[in-house]
Amino acid sequence: MNDKPNSIEARDIAYHLHPYTNAKKHLEAGPLVIDRGEGIYVYDNNGKQYIEAMAGLWSVGVGFNEKRLVKAATQQMEKLPYYHTFTHKSHGPVIELSEKLIGMAPVPMSKAFFTNSGSEAIDTALKLIWYRSNALGKHEKKKIIVRNRAYHGVTIAGACLTSLPANHKSFDLIVPNVLRMTAPHHWREAMPGESEEEFATRLAKELEDTILAEGPETVAAFFGEPVQGAGGVVVPPATYWQKVQEVLRKYDILLVADEVICGFGRTGTMFGSITYGIEPDIMVMSKQLSSSYLPASALMINEKVFQPIMEESDRIGTLGHGYTASGHPVVAAVALENLKIIEERDLVGNAAAMGKRLLDGLNALADHPLVGEVRGVGLIAAVELVTDKASKKALETPGALGALVNAHLQEAGVISRAMTDAMAFCPPLIITAAEVDDLVARLKS
Ligand code: PLP
Repeated sequence: MNDKPNSIEARDIAYHLHPYTNAKKHLEAGPLVIDRGEGIYVYDNNGKQYIEAMAGLWSVGVGFNEKRLVKAATQQMEKLPYYHTFTHKSHGPVIELSEKLIGMAPVPMSKAFFTNSGSEAIDTALKLIWYRSNALGKHEKKKIIVRNRAYHGVTIAGACLTSLPANHKSFDLIVPNVLRMTAPHHWREAMPGESEEEFATRLAKELEDTILAEGPETVAAFFGEPVQGAGGVVVPPATYWQKVQEVLRKYDILLVADEVICGFGRTGTMFGSITYGIEPDIMVMSKQLSSSYLPASALMINEKVFQPIMEESDRIGTLGHGYTASGHPVVAAVALENLKIIEERDLVGNAAAMGKRLLDGLNALADHPLVGEVRGVGLIAAVELVTDKASKKALETPGALGALVNAHLQEAGVISRAMTDAMAFCPPLIITAAEVDDLVARLKS
């Protein structure tokens, strides 16, 4: 690190509190300052090139220098840089984006609502679900089911639905009545000899038993990422979602698909819901919606959710929820152009093909003594590191091995992400075959 006074690194240490950082260690270690991006690559302020094998944070589908998005933003900035969507106000880009998203939905959806981050979209989903239960006179129907290893954001409600310990410790979170199920990770959670099918059946039974024990009339919704991302890229058994949905339908429990990572191509189809045959009542989207060139997020709700909300807003006089930047015109214009690029270039098809190539490359590392499991679907993959394959254990301190390998990969010019000891590889959707091969070669180095 450059520790000269007034270097860019020293100023970062002096003035910037980073998200998700050991703030004390950062005082010594300092930042990695990224200066520019191009395609799947980013370059630090010393000119070193890295493959951005996380697409930022699963975000930058179209790569790091897509001029069409710059143009879309500039044109909209010049025409109408801001307007809001409260009360009856609207504008062209938000109307067009609403129509576009509803048209893309894998199951019939009624309305789109706009927010600025995945966490805000999750909060909004939760609030709309509670609002709906009250609208229906089901005042008890408020409990939410999530899974262990879930990540649904960091606002107070989002963090409550998230199951990762770091998001809870020392934060005094207050949302009650969150029920946590086993994560659908066969390799880690299955009983000895249990097939994927049997495992999925057991998890559906766990869900049903929990609902019955709590009282189905008290359970409002199940939130789930089609493939859990930040929890370590947990790829569920093929029949898991079908079995879960059967239970939810039986007890009139809403299903929220958190597509913040999976949406817009990541799993090799347009939505994780398509990959797994999920029929959600609410879909939450962000990240690749705008390739994160600007902060964007949205929800879609179906008619079953919309109708009671509409009635309740009429009874109260307003739906008292929304953000100053809900449906921001520049964000909407960028999102629309981004979706156009994803469709025109068939980046979803590319994610499927390149994902297979990447997984083949990662599977070739399976015999390495530190590799416990290789898993993935589409362009979301992970290599789980262990020091003992039989016990599936890593070093004494969870995450220590992941941190070591992460640092090594950074040296080798690969930006990955260690989720405890699972290394995630989820590059931009534009990645080419040669670039996948280069990534795999760098992992071997
Ligand atoms: N939901 C999922 C599945 C996510 O992966 C994330 C972020 O990574 C969020 C919600 C929260 O999104 P944000 O960080 O934009 O608040």
